[in-house]
Amino acid sequence: VMFDSLSDRLTGALKDLRGKGKLSDADIDRTCREIRLALLDADVSLQVVRGFIARIKERAKGSEVSGALNPAQQIVKIVNEELIAVLGGETRRIAYAKTPPTVIMLAGLQGAGKTTLAGKLAAWLIKQGHTPILVACDLQRPGAVDQLKVVGERAGTPVFAPHPGTSVGGEGVLGVSAADPIGVARDGIEHARARQHDVVIVDTAGRLGIDAELMAQAKGIRDAVSPDEVLFVVDAMIGQDAVTTAEAFAEGVDFTGVVLTKLDGDARGGAALSVREITGRPIMFASSGEKLEDFDVFHPDRMASRILGMGDVLSLIEQAEEHWDAEQAEAAAAKITQGELTLEDFLEQMLMIRKMGPIGNLLGMLPGAGQMKDALAQVDDKQLDRVQAIIRGMTPAERDNPKIINASRRLRIANGSGVSVSEVNQLVDRFFEARKMMAQMSGRMGMPGGNRRSN
Ligand code: GDP
Repeated sequence: VMFDSLSDRLTGALKDLRGKGKLSDADIDRTCREIRLALLDADVSLQVVRGFIARIKERAKGSEVSGALNPAQQIVKIVNEELIAVLGGETRRIAYAKTPPTVIMLAGLQGAGKTTLAGKLAAWLIKQGHTPILVACDLQRPGAVDQLKVVGERAGTPVFAPHPGTSVGGEGVLGVSAADPIGVARDGIEHARARQHDVVIVDTAGRLGIDAELMAQAKGIRDAVSPDEVLFVVDAMIGQDAVTTAEAFAEGVDFTGVVLTKLDGDARGGAALSVREITGRPIMFASSGEKLEDFDVFHPDRMASRILGMGDVLSLIEQAEEHWDAEQAEAAAAKITQGELTLEDFLEQMLMIRKMGPIGNLLGMLPGAGQMKDALAQVDDKQLDRVQAIIRGMTPAERDNPKIINASRRLRIANGSGVSVSEVNQLVDRFFEARKMMAQMSGRMGMPGGNRRSN
């Protein structure tokens, strides 16, 4: 699917950096060259590629120092951040009108997927508790009105349209001429207001190519209904042409957001990466198939992760950075290698990891987590709570050396932390076992204490 080859090449370029302790300028230049070629081959506009590469190079060579990441990971982080920025940064949500109805106008070339999108958007709005209505203003293309009606029915939303069978020049609902899309749009809004629909989606006519008449009509509709959002709908498969079209619509009608369609196609996807930077307008939604559900809010960060093929592992890295206490980690690593880890250290480590969020969520962010669902279901934060409670019930001396905990103390600890004595015993036994094992392992691997940078 879309982005697969771009994704493969970007991950390939970044993979070569792995295992390098320090990156030279030559390493960075070579990686940037590969990224540049990958983007150009994916049809990303040259202007966008240039800026992107320049920013990555500058940041990579200035290389921000981070305790938790090695140089290669830092480059990945930089590429990811710049990718998110190119895709628009923050997720942009619909700006609903203070006084309903909110009017959303769709514009774009014929075949871009406007009508299909109208249905998907309506279905999505219904799920969010809205009561949308579709207004059919594409009176140019034969059958467009009927198509919107079919789409509306599928989405479970009413459609305001000229009477069926009225051809161009005939009379539509409310006495509007079917040839007058601006009149239909205006009446559609009135109708929506009267019926208390809180969102109106206005579908407009497209052409196979950009022309002045199309722009004038779209502009006329826009001026007549003053939409809260004008969404420019663009087929992501048309490559570089998407950029030209976007520029023409930005100038002709102006728009507040972009909808990318056909992201399920096997094209290279450069449009997605160019349109935002070229027009300065955010991508708001993504459409990826013929079914109503193949539609979602566009999240720049998630799309970047997907393009870099890394699940949400970058949020994980960020959270680790945020909560990472390097000194504490060094000390713990040193103790592990010497077999001196105490329950106190163990508790600290556990708290540090748990600050990052529920264990299930953390594991869920790892790539490939999709196939690990069963395993994840076994991980239980409650169990960890109990372990924490047990350790907290011990005195500092006991945490240092659990061997001194006798039977009556075990009972006290169990009662104090609301668990059974056997759970306390289990924890203590498992701790000794684990400590022994960790010391053996680090000995065998010749791991120097505190070498937390090796993966
Ligand atoms: P309009 O002329 O802009 O209203 O475009 P349509 O909604 O009629 O869509 C044109 C064609 O593209 C139709 O055959 C749709 O089924 C198809 N289409 C629309 N959106 C998508 C999408 O996200 N993925 C795929 N694969 N096809 C789509």
